[in-house]
Amino acid sequence: QEPLLDVKNLHVSFKTHGGEVKAVRGVSFSLEKGETLAIVGESGCGKSATSLAVMGLIPEPPGRITEGVISFKGRDMVKMSPKQKRRIQGVNLSMIFQDPMTALNPTLTIGSQLTEGIVHQKKATKTQARDKAMEMLALVGISNPEERMKQYPHQFSGGMRQRIVIAMALICEPDLIIADEPTTALDVTIQAQILELFNKIQKETDVAIIMITHDLGVVAKVADRIAVMYAGKIVELGAKRDIFYRSGHPYTQALLNSVVRLDLPSDTLRPINGAPPDLFLPPAGCAFSQRCPFAMEVCEHVQPPTTTLDAHHAVDCWLLDKRAVENRQRVENLQ
Ligand code: SF4
Ligand code: MG
Repeated sequence: QEPLLDVKNLHVSFKTHGGEVKAVRGVSFSLEKGETLAIVGESGCGKSATSLAVMGLIPEPPGRITEGVISFKGRDMVKMSPKQKRRIQGVNLSMIFQDPMTALNPTLTIGSQLTEGIVHQKKATKTQARDKAMEMLALVGISNPEERMKQYPHQFSGGMRQRIVIAMALICEPDLIIADEPTTALDVTIQAQILELFNKIQKETDVAIIMITHDLGVVAKVADRIAVMYAGKIVELGAKRDIFYRSGHPYTQALLNSVVRLDLPSDTLRPINGAPPDLFLPPAGCAFSQRCPFAMEVCEHVQPPTTTLDAHHAVDCWLLDKRAVENRQRVENLQ
């Protein structure tokens, strides 16, 4: 059986005054029904561009998918007309952003915003739409849905607004939700509640989720699998336990080490020194080589190949390649 989503060798570029930024440089991953994939990385690593591409929302121009396949339920979205894409967006695919106010209209009641989508797309009656909206509000943990439907966005707290946005995303029963830093703007307690909510929704609806985040704490709470992105590429992809307990890539390890561990004294925090490379002119070799404590000669010149550690764990790093490591030892012995 084919996966729900199958992304192969995706490349996305953006034209800017300074030239063309190669934001996504050959990303491949797949997603099954009911699964949560977290895409993690620093800002500018290409995680948002990847998710916008999957949503069919890359602004063209200045953006462009220059290569690759985004197969959603067996159909390549890259080849679809704007009209075909629009039919899928909002029905099969939903997106949740960091700031719920970008998705809510301040001048309309919650009820009319919730029902708008279904009345439009699924030709439900007003009453059916209202029932569905109340059901969704209850699902996302908003009590008194009947009363709340009559209220406006400003009458809700930030966390409640994000719950409403999640209800809106779910109302057309999508196959896939992409959530881009959905809890970053919320305080820690509310954040935990919203992440719990994602887990609950998934158990009840079997929706697949792509969670875009820079926060490994978020990842730990919701992900089944994790893709670590750096400089436009996925450098490591694996099940949650692979990434947290047996990560094979120095960048993943640096990310894990940089997490503030509340159980340790603060001087054990090890941030990653340096900055990611310029994506106007991506490096010939490993993009992490300037910051990597294990960098070898070959790393600077040749792209690291993908090593598959087990069925679902893949790492792009020369350290896992016997040829490179043996060669390095020889070079060091000679010096
Ligand atoms: Fe470090 Fe080389 Fe691995 Fe890149 S390929 S992460 S530079 S060891
Ligand atoms: Mg989950």
